[in-house]
Amino acid sequence: MSDDGIRPSDVGGDDAPPVETKPYKIIFEASGCIGTGKCAEVSPNWDLSLDTGLARPRTYYVGEEELSHNVRAAEVCPAKKGRGVIHVIDRRTDEEIAPDPEGDGTLSVDW
Ligand code: SF4
Repeated sequence: MSDDGIRPSDVGGDDAPPVETKPYKIIFEASGCIGTGKCAEVSPNWDLSLDTGLARPRTYYVGEEELSHNVRAAEVCPAKKGRGVIHVIDRRTDEEIAPDPEGDGTLSVDW
């Protein structure tokens, strides 16, 4: 649970698939993306949009089998001085799995 009243698992609307099938969620700070394409190099979930020059995920909800490459994308993202703009959240605990710059699961999104 975050201190500021925003539960990461609540972000993103009502069309979420069940937690049982997709336990992880992406929160993407598109406004902080600097278009390096590093995420797309390591994860098939990420693409650079030709229209905007910014990254975009194919899906925001992730199962166990897609977790590792999305974590990798979050870890390699150099935006925000290396803190990253791709956030992988465990919907069951509301903790940030990656990039987790604080090291304690705190959501590192700049709202
Ligand atoms: S790695 Fe980060 S900054 Fe680079 S394109 Fe992907 S989201 Fe944007």
